[in-house]
Amino acid sequence: MTTATCPAKRAPHGTQEWAASNVNIQDGCEHDCRYCYAKTMAIRFKRADAESWSKPRLRQHDLDRTFTRRTGRIMFPTAHDITPHNIDACITVLTRMLAAGNDLLIVSKPHATCVNRLCEELKPYRAQIVFRFSIGSTDDAVLSYWEPGAPNFHDRLASLKTANLSDFQTSVSGEPVLDDNPDALITAVHPYVTDSIWLGKINRLRNILPLNCPRDPEAVRHGEALMATQTDTAIRALYRRHRHDSKIKWKDSIKAVVGLSSPATAGLDE
Ligand code: SF4
Repeated sequence: MTTATCPAKRAPHGTQEWAASNVNIQDGCEHDCRYCYAKTMAIRFKRADAESWSKPRLRQHDLDRTFTRRTGRIMFPTAHDITPHNIDACITVLTRMLAAGNDLLIVSKPHATCVNRLCEELKPYRAQIVFRFSIGSTDDAVLSYWEPGAPNFHDRLASLKTANLSDFQTSVSGEPVLDDNPDALITAVHPYVTDSIWLGKINRLRNILPLNCPRDPEAVRHGEALMATQTDTAIRALYRRHRHDSKIKWKDSIKAVVGLSSPATAGLDE
């Protein structure tokens, strides 16, 4: 292959910024976020349609897997969430990965009931775990529009407090930021975060909405309004306000705007 046709190796992006590998155990997700890229991929490759995605099915072959120790941190899950519907299965698989000596990044739009159980049942492995709770806004109207099946802000903040009080390492993902006031989110979660608060723009929305929300002009209007709040000018101002806060980390979508370099290796931007 000539240099001209050889594509440059792309820097780690998306979930690769956070973990070297990932594990999932179900198809579909009842949180049914309008911007969900996993849903878009499932629809594109005909594993789901816009309606069936919100009726998840556990995958028996993934529930039966055994694990050895992997190099680098494992992210669980990346293509569904941890919910009251699958919490038993999640705890079974998480415990298996932890018992094999793996370090885990557990990512969720958290249900307080699920986090109570995770903190209780995974306590022996506390040193191997970082919780990362996805919270894109403090406004329940915003959350319930973009993430109709996910918990409200109070439930997510309560989950963060529980994990923090239980001495787990805690972090928050504000990717995607879902409103024009990310400072309110940072202020609300900051006291309960020991590790990091990640901020990122909404990605690929013009490609995602036609598949995830077909024939839905209201979703298009909401999407355009959200993207209009994330201009380069607004992102640079956000960066200037928080660049000296050691807890704040910037996802690839913001790094590209403000001129930060990306990590060369997956899972190293911790
Ligand atoms: S919680 Fe995650 S996997 Fe589930 S629908 Fe939302 S973005 Fe997709």
